[in-house]
Amino acid sequence: MELTKGAKLLIKTLEDHGFKAYAVGGFVRDNLLGKTLFDVDVTTSATPEQMLEVFKGFKVYLTGIKHGTITVNSLGEHIEVTTFRVDGSYKDNRHPDSVEFVSDLESDLARRDFTVNAMAFNGEELVDLYGGREDLKNRLIRAVGDPRKRFEEDALRILRGLRFASVLDFDIECETAVAMEEKAHLLKNVSVERLFTELSKLLVGRGVERVLTKYKKVIFEVIPELKLCDGFSQNTKFHSYDVYEHTVRSVALSEADKAVRWALLLHDIEKPSCYSVDGSGVGHFYGHQPKSAKTAVVILKRFKADNKLIKLCNDLIYLHDIKTEITRGEVKKLLNLYGVETLRKLALVKVGDGLAHAPEYADYRRSLAINFLNEVNDIVEKGECYLLKDLAVNGNDFKQLGFRGAEIKTALDNALSLVIKGEVLNEKSEILKRFER
Ligand code: ATP
Ligand code: MG
Repeated sequence: MELTKGAKLLIKTLEDHGFKAYAVGGFVRDNLLGKTLFDVDVTTSATPEQMLEVFKGFKVYLTGIKHGTITVNSLGEHIEVTTFRVDGSYKDNRHPDSVEFVSDLESDLARRDFTVNAMAFNGEELVDLYGGREDLKNRLIRAVGDPRKRFEEDALRILRGLRFASVLDFDIECETAVAMEEKAHLLKNVSVERLFTELSKLLVGRGVERVLTKYKKVIFEVIPELKLCDGFSQNTKFHSYDVYEHTVRSVALSEADKAVRWALLLHDIEKPSCYSVDGSGVGHFYGHQPKSAKTAVVILKRFKADNKLIKLCNDLIYLHDIKTEITRGEVKKLLNLYGVETLRKLALVKVGDGLAHAPEYADYRRSLAINFLNEVNDIVEKGECYLLKDLAVNGNDFKQLGFRGAEIKTALDNALSLVIKGEVLNEKSEILKRFER
């Protein structure tokens, strides 16, 4: 394992002043997994005041000085340096009420969440008090100490554990997993922003299918609306999985994109409430798309997700079942209404959704989605017009033809519509010919 140049200099500087200093957490974990990382966190015996003294010649940012953290620019790397600390008492299963600085690394490692995150490295020596290395080898997430106690202190750790299991594609050690389910109800005390951050990372992880399946009880604590989908049989030849299984598979079989995966996680959430059976005993879910979009917006707002993601998921879910065997003109109309980013992601949503259908329909559905994506890309690459601003005429041209006031806007819209349908070339003379009076 090799430290970055900036971390080496920073740790050596602290050691030269008589302090202990180690890279810790994600950097050590991911390095031992063979990943090269540039984002180093350092832990040290120096107090914040002592750090400021030691790093006089460096550019320093007082990012979290109350909790003992400063950020140091070391050879261009922004490195977070934190004083060895233990957490004070925890009320209500979230942030500790206070932190206490200590002088030994051992106590600092003991407060960390998982064994794989509780190793320290100073360039020579790897300090691994909890068997983190062994757990890495066995691909296991295991709490440091008594998992029940640790999740009671800070329930966010439950979701962090699921996130690491998904991102690293690890299993969760048995006792830790049992404690996660047992303490999952405490997640209601954790801030929604922190839950959302962990869920978003979890969703794009390689192990997402296993985590959403095996630990669904925990997931239903944070998104209770999903629970109704669990075990809800679809009763149609197009589906061989219940609504929740289908949902999980669609997420796992889609591109690892945050918006695409959030949309897929929520795309059928109102299927249970829209269920009906026809005369031949076949199940239908009329209207579940707009209703699921609405519920998704409620859920994402509850998580205080950003407006862009909310809007995107709303559109993606609303549109997720639209027919894509449509004319090029109709694709351009969609481009006009929703924009290229949404339509590209819609194709990716349809790929995931399609692949999660019954096996005999999966490939066909995927190919329809890919054709749609290709058509969207082709229109954009060829620079074909689907927006007013790309039209070869503008309002002035219509004025000169004698159009006035609201007529101008109508004429422009009609011209765009003709161009989109391919009935007129996007050339000034051709368009104006059609509108001469
Ligand atoms: P990544 O940066 O890839 O998300 P990371 O392991 O660096 O992973 P951070 O959230 O940056 O995760 O936290 C850095 C380290 O701080 C962790 O590795 C862990 O040792 C410790 N840590 C973070 N959050 C908690 C927590 N809620 N409880 C206990 N320890 C934590
Ligand atoms: Mg980190």
